[in-house]
Amino acid sequence: MKLVKLIANLGYGSRKDVQWMFREGRITDADGEVLYADDQIDSTRIRIDGEPLDPPAGLLLMLHKPVGYTCSTKDPGRVVYDLLPPRYRLRSPLLSTVGRLDRDTSGMLLMTDDGLLLHRIVSPKAQLAKVYEATLAQDLRGDEAGVFASGTLLLEAETTPLAPAQMQVLGPRHARLTLTEGRYHQVRRMFAAVGNHVEALHRPRIGGLDLADLPAGQWRMLDDADRTRLF
Ligand code: URA
Repeated sequence: MKLVKLIANLGYGSRKDVQWMFREGRITDADGEVLYADDQIDSTRIRIDGEPLDPPAGLLLMLHKPVGYTCSTKDPGRVVYDLLPPRYRLRSPLLSTVGRLDRDTSGMLLMTDDGLLLHRIVSPKAQLAKVYEATLAQDLRGDEAGVFASGTLLLEAETTPLAPAQMQVLGPRHARLTLTEGRYHQVRRMFAAVGNHVEALHRPRIGGLDLADLPAGQWRMLDDADRTRLF
């Protein structure tokens, strides 16, 4: 692929913008030698303003989504793409969220441009554990863990019962829930089904990957070691 097209596809600008970047000498090789649009070069050696080019494919990143942001690209309010460099919204193929978190939920959101990887992560077959911490409006009754683990809980307007889920009590109004599915508003609806209300929801972990000390609103690229930890 021609360099102009490759760089434009990564969202750095239109093809015209990228032509200008070449003319301005902003695109160099790893040794700082200015590149020209027709040069042939391994993409890992390209630098833009001295920074390595984003990987052309197979991006996987972890974002610590704060409350108040939606996972949509179209919402007129704040969206998770606002927390990433603007070019990530323009990449082709698109950088999509792996599943979604509600506007009022904080925590780990994975994003990728790799459709196969996305399906592998969200597929119920993967049985990938998604861990949530819920703060509740009322004290736990004591039977919730049994109801959630039963594999018979039917949410309103659904015809298939939920897969068994594990619940740990963290406090009178605080619980950790481990799910292997990702149905719409699942955690909030599960607690509604047992007569409670989720006041705050946070996802600290997916599979073997933890948010650790990544601050809210920050993101980091995941490497091969992280991917191995995920599954
Ligand atoms: N369950 C919910 O209810 N909301 C989320 O954002 C994620 C899981």
